[in-house]
Amino acid sequence: MADKKEKTAQNEKHEFQTEAKQLLHLVIHSLYTHKEIFLRELVSNASDALDKIRFESLTKPDIIERDVELKVNITLNKKSKILTVSDNGIGMSMQELIDNIGTIARSGSKAFLEKLTGEMKADSNLIGQFGVGFYSVFMVASSVKIVTRRAGTDDPAISWESKGENEYTIGEADKKSHGTDITLYLKDDETVYTEGWKIRSLIKKYSDFIAFPIYLPDDKGKGEIINESKPIWKRKPSDIKEEQYEDFFKQACGGFDAPLATIHSHAEGVMEYAALLYIPSKVSPLEIYNFERKHGVKLYVRRVFIMEDCKELIPEYLRFVKGVIDSEDLPLNISRETLQDNPLIRKIQKAVVGKIFTNLADLANNEPEKYKTFWKEFGPVLKEGLHSDPDNKEKLLELARFQSSIGDTEDDITSLKQYVSRMRDDQKDIYYITGESRSIAEKSPHLEIFREKGIEVLYMIDPIDEFIIPSIYNYEGKLLKSVTKGDLDLGELGKEEKKEQKKGESKFKKLSERIKNILSEDVKDVRIATRLKDSPCCLVADENDMGANMEKMMKAMGQSVPESKRILEINANHKIFINLNNIYEKDPKNKQLEEWVNLLYDQALIAEGRLVKDPVAYLKRVNELLITASEGETAQEDEKKE
Ligand code: ADP
Repeated sequence: MADKKEKTAQNEKHEFQTEAKQLLHLVIHSLYTHKEIFLRELVSNASDALDKIRFESLTKPDIIERDVELKVNITLNKKSKILTVSDNGIGMSMQELIDNIGTIARSGSKAFLEKLTGEMKADSNLIGQFGVGFYSVFMVASSVKIVTRRAGTDDPAISWESKGENEYTIGEADKKSHGTDITLYLKDDETVYTEGWKIRSLIKKYSDFIAFPIYLPDDKGKGEIINESKPIWKRKPSDIKEEQYEDFFKQACGGFDAPLATIHSHAEGVMEYAALLYIPSKVSPLEIYNFERKHGVKLYVRRVFIMEDCKELIPEYLRFVKGVIDSEDLPLNISRETLQDNPLIRKIQKAVVGKIFTNLADLANNEPEKYKTFWKEFGPVLKEGLHSDPDNKEKLLELARFQSSIGDTEDDITSLKQYVSRMRDDQKDIYYITGESRSIAEKSPHLEIFREKGIEVLYMIDPIDEFIIPSIYNYEGKLLKSVTKGDLDLGELGKEEKKEQKKGESKFKKLSERIKNILSEDVKDVRIATRLKDSPCCLVADENDMGANMEKMMKAMGQSVPESKRILEINANHKIFINLNNIYEKDPKNKQLEEWVNLLYDQALIAEGRLVKDPVAYLKRVNELLITASEGETAQEDEKKE
């Protein structure tokens, strides 16, 4: 860590880490709005420290003195312009103090710094999004002192002092009890924070639900509890305002903005628990891809905080859900290791997942625009469940959305139910195409017949889609069929094309043989297409082979992919093949034929967004064609002149 120190008589001077300096500079010089949130940050840190000691005391009961009340204490001194927030929580060791307060390790703050532009006003709004945490004290204080003692150690108490500029001083302090006192020497124009009424109203506004009592001396100097101190999730939903839910989401659950949905429920009976869960509108990709997960669903047992991000409570594919689950029945000494085998945990998970599904279904039915936002953000994650949670397949299929050939833009999404309701009378199967993007998928020649017949095709263009299609397999008894695989059978709808195909087969029999011969290294068969209207040819995979998109993805992931040759389907009504057939009939050994067939094969690759097999050879062939064509053109021009 960039922690330069310089020893003085008693105290050591340390320099803040570079990013920390930048952040402090910003806090002191640029943030003017929402200064009051510093109190929320201090109280929330105190509450975390209390949660931590309570948790540690489960295995080390001696860490807390008998019968001691875990609490936050606020004291005010108007005359000296001092505000102190104390807790008897876990405290910090010297190293923890240096690491936690002197440096910024959290990506949130780093991202916050990176987002900064010259627009300071806009930036000051960002504070609410990322929360600059402890440093926010420097918006109101000219100097800050921390005295802290780590519980469960014999280490002396430590003091930390800073004016928030470049450096801070660390030394030993005199404090017997564990916990942390944070003293703010307020700036001259911030003395309002020594007023009892102001503190009370701020606690009501921001920290009412903190699970520990917050004390403030009343007029007579007697400590009085000023918060509800019943955690928000334990309260009745009807008693909670929308803003309170949102505040809790932002402060305790790592939310950025208003959640898309809030799920608050109390289960009683066989198992008793309270759950307050949020579906955010956005989650950082780092969290979603599990590189850095801080907030997930926290587990509490009878109001005792047990762990952050309890993965056993929520399946992986719902990892965007945040919040709290508080069980009345689990043992307090439950550990990460025993969680997995705990049948109660599994039951809670099942019930909670059911609730989440119901909520998502409501959102989809009642607020389709919001659901669209949800789907855009989390659809690819939710879809993983189709593969990993077969028990909930039906429900997930109702929630799944896809782009399709009837939509005009990426925003037009459809459910499978809607697709089925629009199916043509004689249509048996559900059709889809996979691909890297909508634009590649929708231009695919494989769609030509579907477009002509007005058959809708789903665009499966999320990378995850390739993996979940086999798990979906069918919907309401209708099979999911790839338009780029197998011998297309449109039943009644494709009767005409089948007849044409028969005709083409006999007419092009010999030519097909010849093409197969020319492309023997690349394709396993050549046959007459039923799916093409405008394009000369396309490549299709055998029913059970890996499709082109899957193959490409597997390769990109560094997987070795078994060689599976595809089938070249040719359009018997296309002028090119009619001409080629004529050439072949006159001279089966014609040399040009070979070049052109290779060109057509490359074209088929390009049409599905792939690279040609040999770009140099491809260009050479195109150039030769251009030379021949332009010579023809020149000759014609010359003829005209003469
Ligand atoms: P955050 O709380 O979001 O992590 P802060 O800047 O508010 O960021 O605090 C940094 C860290 O300092 C905390 O994560 C915690 O480890 C430590 N800390 C802050 N206040 C206290 C406290 N009152 N008791 C114990 N540790 C604390």
